[in-house]
Amino acid sequence: MPAQQTKYIFVTGGVCSGLGKGLSAAAIGAILKAAGFSVFTLKIDPYLNVDPGTMSPYQHGEVFVTEDGYEADLDLGHYERFIDVNLTRQSNLTTGQIYQRLIDAERKGKFLGKTIQIIPHITEEVKRYFRHVAKVSGADFLLIEVGGTVGDIEGEPYLEAARQFALEEGSKNALFVHITLLPYLKTSQELKTKPTQASVRDLRRQGIQPHIIIARSDYPIPKEQIEKISLFSNVKPEAVIPAVTASTIYEVPILFERCKISRTICDYLGVRPRTADLKEWKNLVRRMKGDSQRKITIAMVGKYTAHGDAYLSVNEALRAAAAHHRAKLKIEHIDSEELEQKNRRMWSRLKKVDGIVIPGGFGNRGVEGKILAAQYAREHNVPYFGLCLGMQIAVIEFARHAAGITGATSEEFSPSAEHCVIHIMEEQKKKMKQKDYGASMRLGAYPARLAEGSLARRAYKEGVISERHRHRYEFNNAYRGTLSQCGMRIAGTSPDNTLVEIVEIENHPWMVGVQFHPEFTSRPLRPHPLFRDFLAAALRFGKSKG
Ligand code: GLN
Repeated sequence: MPAQQTKYIFVTGGVCSGLGKGLSAAAIGAILKAAGFSVFTLKIDPYLNVDPGTMSPYQHGEVFVTEDGYEADLDLGHYERFIDVNLTRQSNLTTGQIYQRLIDAERKGKFLGKTIQIIPHITEEVKRYFRHVAKVSGADFLLIEVGGTVGDIEGEPYLEAARQFALEEGSKNALFVHITLLPYLKTSQELKTKPTQASVRDLRRQGIQPHIIIARSDYPIPKEQIEKISLFSNVKPEAVIPAVTASTIYEVPILFERCKISRTICDYLGVRPRTADLKEWKNLVRRMKGDSQRKITIAMVGKYTAHGDAYLSVNEALRAAAAHHRAKLKIEHIDSEELEQKNRRMWSRLKKVDGIVIPGGFGNRGVEGKILAAQYAREHNVPYFGLCLGMQIAVIEFARHAAGITGATSEEFSPSAEHCVIHIMEEQKKKMKQKDYGASMRLGAYPARLAEGSLARRAYKEGVISERHRHRYEFNNAYRGTLSQCGMRIAGTSPDNTLVEIVEIENHPWMVGVQFHPEFTSRPLRPHPLFRDFLAAALRFGKSKG
């Protein structure tokens, strides 16, 4: 395909939220990528926040960090994992951003006294943004996911912009995919298509006729229902894709392509179709579903409140590594506050696992329980992987119990403590003083140099690596000497040696803490080397327990 014209695929959702719209869009991206096209994505979040960085992960799920340091919605994580691209801050557009841009321009007098309105000013800005992302990405296909559900007030300006955009770009350059749900009624034992019909009608009211419908369902969809959807929605039957709940999310591209979705897309957009080679995905699914004898249980010691997706990328990184080892993974969710309160059931669950992960986090709550878990791991040779906060926990634990620094803690938890082995970064201190919380974190990819002979060096097989960060606090260099003498290895630092990036415990089979978030760069088809080695150590530990 000639590189000059990007083809746009808009993905909308109907009926209700939580249908896996992002996932479906990501699966389409994976298929196009496997067919040899380049793909980039843009997620539109119609809320008024400027970015999701300050939104609580316990309400919205994990904050995903891109290489260029943008704090994004977790859907961007799905996109990166499925399409294997490194997205950027360009990949997310929020209503807050659009309004902020327009209001800034208005204050600077750029509109010369005109009235600024949703149509045409917001819509023009949105369309300009679509073209801008297409241009900077240079991709063959740009997938644009419109967040929310068709019919939401917040989403309307985006649908209107998409409608105008498709007209301007021409029918061969823009395509609409609509995701809906077929609810199952137990009494009549059938799947209902009416909500799908209604949501397509809502979309048409906005002037958009979908080309492809992805019908989500928990049960197989009979042919007649597909035909019914086709008839009422004015979508060709072969373009109604049944999306029956899969056993693993990585099966979705395979299921979609079985219905020749890439061919339908290419036909509509006047692109010569190419065969999507999904061999690797099929292998992955086979490994994930296989009846492996090797079972492995990993504890995720965190704060557990409402949102199950708070540690999404960590879960996926563990799954990818387990699939690599052909092991059947079970993740035990261990609530650190319960450990703190000496909950016997929680402790007995922790004592059975083959490895312990302490993921990232903020604030005081549950911290002492995490420190107890790290102590248990260190003293009982349980493989331990600390991610960001989990690294800081490992340092605090080691300082207290192996180096005898009573009361060692982090400035985050106890600002006036005597021994803050983890303290605020100088850079960030200034920003905190200015109450600029949005800018007070070290974000995005930074390089690190790995120490010879370290577990990290062995895993990466490279001397210098680059990983994504999202933190305010760091290892306090004043304690480097003491902690090293007591057996903590400084396994990775910033190239100028000022920031500690990785710590390891000597005389322990595998206890590694990293100041960054390796989970964000792990890919299902390319598990992260540290997750891979952590699980290898956990498998060895499990075996040694018998
Ligand atoms: N709260 C810690 C810090 O700000 C760790 C952050 C994290 O785990 N992402 O440094």
